[in-house]
Amino acid sequence: MTAQIINGKEIAAKKKLEIAEEVARLKTQGITPGLAVILVGRDHASQTYVNNKEKTCKELGMYSLLIEMDEKVSEEELLGKIDELNRDSAIHGILVQLPLPKHIDEKKVIETISPLKDVDGFHPINIGRMMTGQNAFLPCTPYGIMVLLEETGISIAGKNVVVVGRSNIVGKPVGQLFLNQHATVTYCHSRTKDLSLHTNQADILVAAVGIPNFIKAEHVKEGAVVIDVGINRNEAGKLCGDVAFDEVSEKAGFITPVPKGVGPMTITMLMYNTLKSAAESLDRD
Ligand code: NAD
Repeated sequence: MTAQIINGKEIAAKKKLEIAEEVARLKTQGITPGLAVILVGRDHASQTYVNNKEKTCKELGMYSLLIEMDEKVSEEELLGKIDELNRDSAIHGILVQLPLPKHIDEKKVIETISPLKDVDGFHPINIGRMMTGQNAFLPCTPYGIMVLLEETGISIAGKNVVVVGRSNIVGKPVGQLFLNQHATVTYCHSRTKDLSLHTNQADILVAAVGIPNFIKAEHVKEGAVVIDVGINRNEAGKLCGDVAFDEVSEKAGFITPVPKGVGPMTITMLMYNTLKSAAESLDRD
């Protein structure tokens, strides 16, 4: 079997158009969705991510505010800035780019962001709301994966889903979203014994490990849907996922490539969450 490619770039472009239309509609009601991004320090990768977020905001007609803080900024000052943004009615989404310098407590930072503006979906209140199936900001990468499947017409109810990886930002929440949609979910992680035994049961296999080409054809059931979350560099410095694309795409039914798979969906869902926050703030007025 040769897998059908799930084109994340195309699906993201379609979703962004829908978001831009909705932004334009909100503007006629006097509200412009606004996203504040706080960048602490000068990490190169973080700067690239933040620039992309700013650019995409502008493309979609949203207001974007970038706050750059020195690497040595105190935790108190950072929390104070978040508090100020929590009270700023022009801002509907607040994102603090991670990772943060070691002297700053990441958990404290996340919990200081108002759950109503937590467009990353990392606040424990949003995580709890997601788990109990209530209205919540869903974390962007897991949410993007669900949209990819929906747009491709892949059904989820009753499927065996295996998630490799259990991080708080990808593995755990994506499994929860599949469970919410009635899949039977198995988590595998660094201490799982006999990974293949589990992954070969998967109708849908999600790889969120961070190891280049970790999932091989031997891990994949014939015809399975394979979602590759990984963003890695191989030995030659080339961008690659967690899935050995060439061999797995010979066996899978559907597969996401890297790049142009899950990646473009993450930023798109961030924009969607900011739009959702703005729309909900209008309802609260
Ligand atoms: P992480 O390092 O926090 O978690 C990795 C997980 O892999 C851990 O839970 C660990 O238990 C598991 N793991 C490690 N070794 C394993 C092994 N031998 N067998 C089974 N499981 C093993 O990483 P993360 O933040 O979840 O990110 C995972 C990957 O996804 C990275 O490549 C990251 O860059 C990428 N990522 C992509 C996006 C995107 O937008 N596409 C977003 C976030 C992360």
